[in-house]
Amino acid sequence: ITTRETPIIIIGSGYGGAVSALRLCEVGKKVVMLEMGLNWEKSGIPFSSMLKPGKSSAWLKKKTIAPFMNIFSLTPFTGALDRMNFEHINIWVGRGVGGGSLVNGGMAVTPKQSYFKEVFPDLDAEKFYTTYFPLVHQELKVNVIGEQFLKECPYYQFTRVGEEEAHKAGFKTIRVPNVYDFQYMEKEYRNEVPRSALNMEVIYGNNHGKNSLDKTYLKKALETGNLEILDLHRVEDIQLNHDKTYTLNVRETDTSGAVISDKVFQCKKLILAAGTMGTLKLLLHSNAVNQFPVHEQIGKNWGNNGNFMTGRNWVKPLSGGTGSKQSTIPVGGIDNWDDAEHPFFTEIAPLPMGMDVATALYLLINRVDKKGEVSYHVGTQDLHLDWTPENTVKMKQNADYFVKKMNKANGGTRSHFLFHNGFGADVCYHPLGGCVLGKATNEFGKLRDHENLYVLDGSLIPGTIGVNPFMTITAIAEYCIENLIRQNEFA
Ligand code: FAD
Repeated sequence: ITTRETPIIIIGSGYGGAVSALRLCEVGKKVVMLEMGLNWEKSGIPFSSMLKPGKSSAWLKKKTIAPFMNIFSLTPFTGALDRMNFEHINIWVGRGVGGGSLVNGGMAVTPKQSYFKEVFPDLDAEKFYTTYFPLVHQELKVNVIGEQFLKECPYYQFTRVGEEEAHKAGFKTIRVPNVYDFQYMEKEYRNEVPRSALNMEVIYGNNHGKNSLDKTYLKKALETGNLEILDLHRVEDIQLNHDKTYTLNVRETDTSGAVISDKVFQCKKLILAAGTMGTLKLLLHSNAVNQFPVHEQIGKNWGNNGNFMTGRNWVKPLSGGTGSKQSTIPVGGIDNWDDAEHPFFTEIAPLPMGMDVATALYLLINRVDKKGEVSYHVGTQDLHLDWTPENTVKMKQNADYFVKKMNKANGGTRSHFLFHNGFGADVCYHPLGGCVLGKATNEFGKLRDHENLYVLDGSLIPGTIGVNPFMTITAIAEYCIENLIRQNEFA
């Protein structure tokens, strides 16, 4: 095995990794990015739709892993969506060059300033709302659906019905921005371009329309000529050397998951951007196998961002119900944060199944009053998550309150079709925390007890942000990397 030496390595190509790469490359630094997933764009392999799950639909699994209806068998392939199963919660993540941006719903939501302040009391909120959020809004190409299109398009009946019903029940709705290009969607609708959002593509990747990170930050970073992305390269563990550099044991695989070669990389500066669960796994596993130093705060303050799914069925589909045609891109939400007793946000979520299932789906985002903790289990050599139904008691009360109020005003029943008892407490798309900014790291993401190690991803956010998280993850990464560069950390 030969050792490759390189000054800066970033592990992971999601939001935190992509931001760090661009800003470092812009100031002339050479960066190597290691990503365990596939470079889909380069491979030329198309993403699958939800009606016909194929190569991109699951990370090395024999069956699909969608939140519902997993009736499809698969040939194992390094797909774009992965699921980690814990005792009381399942966590979905993206795999591939672009990380979660490949598979997510693209909802680009800026948190409420008051909640941001509560979650990050030490940050200058004013600066975030005048500088970093507007910056990432522009870089991520965030846009909003045209109201006229929304009103007329049959693929948004689920949003129109969802909003009408919410208003009837006395809830306040908001329009939700997205990184999916709505100009493109209007052309899809007119059949001028190939369809993606209107063709059941999203959680296994979008072939068109979505401005995922490979089309924004990563594209710009590659254009500097300073970034090299190595896909299908999984970092197994990290060692701290006497001279304070790092050695990485890396495994290159093919798309069936078979090993091509084992490699060793050495770097002076290491940025962990493997996503909340990926970063925690690397730190805690390396600690177990290599005595890698980890601060006592690592693993603490983990949360599911209050994710709680629920649904409603109509006995008799209301005014055509949510319809058989559904865009995969959500554009509506219910904002109930001002209710002191039941504060939550909920996405009016699509449920594109190719037929009218007379079901409305909601992903609630609640406060996380009781945080969980991530540790390492030596027996299984995997992460252990301390998270039980006790952590979601209040979330369940909110979901129950919401569904009852909606049903009272509009008819319908709690959906047993989607979830046992109508509640999906175990569905998590937004794992956050475990390497909290200012606790496990310094004020700019540099890990405590280390001189050349940084964390820049969702694990910096203490378990909750009140809305879908990628805008915040991106803004925090911009803030951290700007300050780290200013402090000459990468000189
Ligand atoms: P990630 O985007 O998770 O990127 C981490 C990358 O590191 C991955 O590509 C991974 O393969 C790689 N990696 C991990 N371990 C290793 C290793 N050992 N070696 C090499 N590479 C490694 N958020 C929103 O704001 N709006 C939405 O609409 C939304 N919808 C979602 C829908 C779904 C189905 C899912 C799963 C998530 C959704 N999210 C949404 C959440 C959002 O995608 C994540 O919060 C975000 O991607 C996290 O960013 P990150 O930078 O922390 O890491």
